[in-house]
Amino acid sequence: MADADRMDTPEQAEFRAYCRQWLSANHPGQPPVRIPLGALELSDPKAMAWLQAWQKSAYAAGLVGCDYSTAVGGGGHTNCQTIANQEMQSARTPFLPNIIGLGMAAPTLYIHAQEEVKRALLPGLLSGAEIWCQGFSEPGAGSDLANQQTFAEKRGDSWVINGHKVWTSLAHFADWMILLCRTDKTDKYNGLSYFVVPIQPAVGKGVTVRPLIKLTGETGFNEVIFDDLVIEDKYRLDAVGAGWKVAMTTLAHERGAGLLVTPAAGGMIQENSKSANTSSPAALINLAKSSSRNGKTAADDPLIRDEMVKIAIRQEAFRQNQRRTLVPALTDHPMRIPLQNKLIGTEFNQDLAAITYDIQGPASSLYLNDENAAGGGEWQLAYMNSFGVTIAAGANEVQRNILGERVLGLPKSK
Ligand SMILES: Cc1cc2nc3c(=O)[nH]c(=O)nc-3n(C[C@H](O)[C@H](O)[C@H](O)COP(=O)(O)OP(=O)(O)OC[C@H]3O[C@@H](n4cnc5c(N)ncnc54)[C@H](O)[C@@H]3O)c2cc1C
Repeated sequence: MADADRMDTPEQAEFRAYCRQWLSANHPGQPPVRIPLGALELSDPKAMAWLQAWQKSAYAAGLVGCDYSTAVGGGGHTNCQTIANQEMQSARTPFLPNIIGLGMAAPTLYIHAQEEVKRALLPGLLSGAEIWCQGFSEPGAGSDLANQQTFAEKRGDSWVINGHKVWTSLAHFADWMILLCRTDKTDKYNGLSYFVVPIQPAVGKGVTVRPLIKLTGETGFNEVIFDDLVIEDKYRLDAVGAGWKVAMTTLAHERGAGLLVTPAAGGMIQENSKSANTSSPAALINLAKSSSRNGKTAADDPLIRDEMVKIAIRQEAFRQNQRRTLVPALTDHPMRIPLQNKLIGTEFNQDLAAITYDIQGPASSLYLNDENAAGGGEWQLAYMNSFGVTIAAGANEVQRNILGERVLGLPKSK
């Protein structure tokens, strides 16, 4: 987007110029190890360490936690995190690995934690020194999130936690977890409470983390079992029984509508320089030009050209739709566009990834580590991973229900 279209305030324009200048001098360059397509697929400790070093330097330069108060380790700006995110994306820097911490835990802590807890935990979260994970889903509580069975029992000034979480991304690296659990078995919604849990020191002593392998062969998420884990009461966020309300702050951010609630600490940017390639129509065109088809290239095939034009139009429509949020006269419902983001973005990426199979033809069966695979097989990896994100953060079917009920005012689904 051209700077003239951005409508920055003078403070934002100055901050943007600063980010650009800093990023041009401090881009971390090519990683020494393979970085996966997104933070949810991180499993190599060396990749994690390299990305943590990158987050630490971006934080020290003021590009992370920009809109948080200086008292809790933030930059003290207003509406500047989006600028830093845009500039990091333009500079094609790697993703920030503490994605759940920045995108969900920080905004939730910012609103609901005691001041002492915020001051103690937010600096380590923002710098990436301490990695966070999210313990919401359970074997019987995914879309029906309020059906939590993990139980926290009050004993004196502490809580004793027992239960089973699943699909817990990054738990294998995590120091901390945001945890939704039950504190009262008689009331489905008012019987929930919300905690932050220091899980790393408890691994093997009340916490078991078991990796789950995805169809791509990667380990990104885990099962987490709590067995009589004791935590202090100060790690409860908000009142006992207010867990559902606190979880709604987290979910608003997870589903792309959080900025209406509280600032995000670092955005949900997931793309590294390679995945930026696997999620842009421009990269698709390059792939088509280099893929052979009946003595010509795939880019000469009218059916492929048609598919590529359609996806490019959808991307432009998405971009223009976003710009409507800047024009009050076009904002008929405050949640209409923010709540669409996760749905539209994940389905766009899935459809774009599917076209790469048509473009490559039989060569799309080649995978990572095959020297003949286009782009090192990352296109195929991106295709398979594109399914998980339509389920993560609440399945898209459920997201459609939310849009129908809360934005369009349709009757509730039964
Ligand atoms: C890549 C990935 C990362 C994840 N990371 C985390 C994490 O870090 N922490 C965490 O807590 N969870 C995580 N999850 C879990 C995720 O939040 C759940 O998978 C999701 O909420 C769906 O729940 P479920 O898997 O139990 O499916 P179910 O709730 O059993 O749903 C099964 C199917 O039924 C459909 N369905 C269910 N209810 C309705 C309805 N009312 N109307 C229409 N259709 C419906 C769903 O859309 C889905 O297609 C992750 C998931 C993925 C894929």
